[in-house]
This record gives sequence, C-alpha cells and structure tokens, in this order.
Amino acid sequence: MLIPCLACESRFRPDDYFRACTDYNRGLDLVSWICPSCGNHDDLRVLPGELGFGYPCRGRFAVHDRLRVPGLRRQRGELRLDISLDAHSWRIATRVRLPV
Ligand SMILES: [Zn+2]
Repeated sequence: MLIPCLACESRFRPDDYFRACTDYNRGLDLVSWICPSCGNHDDLRVLPGELGFGYPCRGRFAVHDRLRVPGLRRQRGELRLDISLDAHSWRIATRVRLPV
C-alpha cells in the first residue's frame, strides 16, 4: 500500500515514508515526519495497524485522524521506536535533549 502526505497528497511506499520519520518523542509517543515532496511537517503516532495524526494538546498528543496500515507493528525502546511492516523495519531514534 502507499501512504499519503496529508498536505500535498503525494503517496509514498512505506520504506520512503518511514525513512522520513525522525525524533521519536517517548513522552508524547509520537514521531516527526517531514514530507520528502512538499516539506510539510506532521506529528504522528505509530499504532498497531494504523497511523494516528493529530497535535499536542494539554501535554498529550490528541489523535484526530487515523490511517489504517494493515500489518504495521511497533516496539517501544529506551531511546527509540522500532517500526515493522511485512519484512521491513525502521528504527526511529530519540533526539537526546541535554539539560541546559
Ligand atoms: Zn507532502
């Protein structure tokens, strides 16, 4: 299946889509995604079998739109999120925020 950008409606193979994910935020349980085509920035939550789109709200991440991705799996790690789909997997690292 192809995963669309919600801004420009370009469609990406999962490999291209998940490679564009960065910076797993463990607290809010979301990853940042920047569209390789239009540069749009989305925050999204990877869920079993679906992607959740939304925005941070009162210290939480509120999911408003869900996109079904059959077979999508996730595994939370200490400083990373591992995503797998079919035979592929991607590792999204947490950007370490050093105390000031
Ligand atoms: Zn786009």
